[in-house]
Amino acid sequence: MPTIKNALLRDYAYYGTGGPCDVLYAPASAAELAANVREIKRLGLPVFVLGAGTNSLVMDEPFSGAFIVMRDLVGIEVRGTKLVVGAGVDNSEVARTALRHGLAGAAWMNRLPGQIGGTVRMNARCYGGEISEIATKVTVVTALGEIREYSDPLMFRGYKDTVFMDNGDLIVSAELLLESGDPAAIAAAMKYCETDRQSKKQFDFPSCGCVFKNDYDVSVPSGMLLSAAGAKGMKRGGAEVSPHHANFVYNKGATSRDILELTLAMRDLVYAEYGVWMSYEMELLGTVPADLAALVSVKKPQQLDLEKIQALRQRLSSRSPS
Ligand SMILES: Cc1cc2nc3c(=O)[nH]c(=O)nc-3n(C[C@H](O)[C@H](O)[C@H](O)COP(=O)(O)OP(=O)(O)OC[C@H]3O[C@@H](n4cnc5c(N)ncnc54)[C@H](O)[C@@H]3O)c2cc1C
Repeated sequence: MPTIKNALLRDYAYYGTGGPCDVLYAPASAAELAANVREIKRLGLPVFVLGAGTNSLVMDEPFSGAFIVMRDLVGIEVRGTKLVVGAGVDNSEVARTALRHGLAGAAWMNRLPGQIGGTVRMNARCYGGEISEIATKVTVVTALGEIREYSDPLMFRGYKDTVFMDNGDLIVSAELLLESGDPAAIAAAMKYCETDRQSKKQFDFPSCGCVFKNDYDVSVPSGMLLSAAGAKGMKRGGAEVSPHHANFVYNKGATSRDILELTLAMRDLVYAEYGVWMSYEMELLGTVPADLAALVSVKKPQQLDLEKIQALRQRLSSRSPS
């Protein structure tokens, strides 16, 4: 059961930020993870979990507690058209394995940063795919340190919403149901995902993907609201809004505070311009300083400026599909 004392969180976080942490656990099996969870509970330590950290901001402040990384929960078992995937496996590895076995349904995961555990928890989606459509069984360790399985599709509650966001279960593995497909078509779909992300400069600097969720009642993506409000190029310390996608914040030598403060300013900007109060998709992990926690938790009523939003909806609908 490898544990590391006084680990530096930034060494494990995709954003490359984060302070020290008392103890890090890196379990390599469900049984080890369950034992870790029971030990952490017995010691009464606060705890958080990190996959690849590609949807998360780990804070700068020291974290007096335990931190669990899933990267040693690896391995993919191929059972006919099913893949049983360890929580720590990279999404792209899932797509590549499916291709090797002529299985369709996972091509959209190629170059989607992150691990399958985080992807299930966040119900990640892109390029016409969503993990809820293929994950038929999920094995977890509960907050009490017990192993259990979910096969009810209601574990996925909708857009970026799962039961795992509330119940504290830690995902150990997921069973993905795919179907036989044409390898050339699967490879072409994977290539498209890679080329499209590269053309949008998604990998030029660390980020967490989209900082804010889309609000489907507004019917204008948050990235478009941000872009139209003039967010591109906004900066705070070493944090900068991507010039290519206004819902992405690049780390160009930032602290977590820089990044979080910049996102707060982005949220205010869109509210001032369109009356839309955006919800965070980015997860905050570790010790969030009280001043920032208070600002993040502010919730303002939606006061949509319908005239301006209608103009954006029209711009959106007149774009040629690509
Ligand atoms: C360049 C870029 C592009 C992106 N594009 C997209 C996109 O198109 N679509 C999309 O949906 N997302 C996108 N993202 C976000 C990210 O790729 C996904 O959300 C990914 O699934 C997160 O996986 P992760 O392992 O990095 O999760 P993390 O960031 O490590 O964790 C996310 C949350 O899940 C928890 N968690 C992690 N692992 C587990 C586990 N095993 N059990 C329980 N809880 C866990 C963490 O505590 C945290 O709360 C993008 C990110 C980047 C950097």
